[in-house]
Amino acid sequence: MTDSTADTPLFSSLALDPLILRAIEDTGYTTPTPIQAQAIPHVLAGRDLMAMAQTGTGKTAAFTLPLLQRLLPHASTSASPARHPIRALILAPTRELAMQVGESVVTYSKHVPLRSTVVYGGTDIKAQKPVLMKGLEILVATPGRLLDHVESRNLMLNQVQILILDEADRMLDMGFMPDLLRILALLPKDRQTLLFSATFSDSIKKLAQDFLRNPVTVETARVNSANETVKQTVYMVGGDDKFHALVEVIRARGVKQVLVFTRTKLSAARIARMLDKDGIAADAIHGDKTQQERIKALEAFKAGSIVALVATDVAARGLDIDHLPLVVNYELPMHAEDYVHRIGRTGRAGASGEAVSLVDEEEERKLGDIEKLLKRTFQRETIVKPAHKRLYTGHGPLKPAPAHPRKPKTDDWFNKPYEPTNPVPTTAPAPLAAKSLPATTTKPMAALFRRKSEPTE
Ligand code: AMP
Repeated sequence: MTDSTADTPLFSSLALDPLILRAIEDTGYTTPTPIQAQAIPHVLAGRDLMAMAQTGTGKTAAFTLPLLQRLLPHASTSASPARHPIRALILAPTRELAMQVGESVVTYSKHVPLRSTVVYGGTDIKAQKPVLMKGLEILVATPGRLLDHVESRNLMLNQVQILILDEADRMLDMGFMPDLLRILALLPKDRQTLLFSATFSDSIKKLAQDFLRNPVTVETARVNSANETVKQTVYMVGGDDKFHALVEVIRARGVKQVLVFTRTKLSAARIARMLDKDGIAADAIHGDKTQQERIKALEAFKAGSIVALVATDVAARGLDIDHLPLVVNYELPMHAEDYVHRIGRTGRAGASGEAVSLVDEEEERKLGDIEKLLKRTFQRETIVKPAHKRLYTGHGPLKPAPAHPRKPKTDDWFNKPYEPTNPVPTTAPAPLAAKSLPATTTKPMAALFRRKSEPTE
């Protein structure tokens, strides 16, 4: 069954408890997003659900709000762990997504006596044990770390009533299928299962067929469609000119925040370092960084102490950053679908944003793949550099601009293997000094983030 009627009721008409409605009110949301309006009634009715929802559509609240409502009869103020079995399990592919979902659960459940926590890898497993042993109703987890806890007998999954697979497509892409099968085997057969995915590939359909019972399908956007509130610009830029083009794109737009995507960890680290040297405070987030380093970079970005966060696709997956004004594809992704995920970081929940791609000749084919996927053709543009009114045509390197002298091409640092800096405690990241920015980026930072990051452990 497919339900795509998109009437927009008020939250108050969604049969949610006044305590949950109060938490929604606290966030400042006025009306449910389309995915929320469509999914919430079905989840409240106990149906299994297969929801196709792009990043930034409000999908987290779409499953968390009705989940809280369904668990409310079990809410208990008792201190006994036995009164707090895990009743809802939310699986997320990455630590960052797990953290963000965990924060949403805390936000929406703040007036109800339901306990929750988040467990993910890359952090001390022993520190997570006492929280689990005290008992909690809602567990957000990455698959690998969940299984570690199962093996250590730190938790039981035999009373789970609701399972949520968030970003299921990415979970399969990241090779979590064997872990998922092991986890599914530990859960009661009689349960409600909700599957959220940005795309419905054949393997997602198979997963749904095997593990969902007569699900309702809801979808709020076309498969593989890009967010329509995002302005997409393609600049043809020679490989050698890309870095200068990036600086121009950031400076010309005067943005306070930009997420820059690269294909490899090495180039993420390299671009962040070059931007930083060029006066644009930046940090990188990628798989080689420790969890503490990733948290520190994300917090600094959210707090506005860095302007540019340079990320690889996997590291950026699930980052929830409100009203991000600009995403730059420094290199096009290997898979066209990742382009959709990348630009989903901007223009979230109805806000407008811009996605700029810097494309060199060797990437023409990848650009073609993206155009095929999106069923549109991009105009190939060139960048005018204001200092010289000179065009970036992609042919030949640019002359250095007096205001921002070009860096030497070689930098010994880039030849060194990656070395993590000293980890900082996750609960109290060291404050980063904001670098002085060019005139266009020195306006006071607006409160760009609706939610404050809260310690989950
Ligand atoms: P998600 O797709 O769950 O990552 O949510 C994307 C962003 O939309 C998050 O920053 C949410 O805080 C925000 N959001 C969720 N629901 C609503 C709503 N009903 N109205 C406005 N913003 C919302």
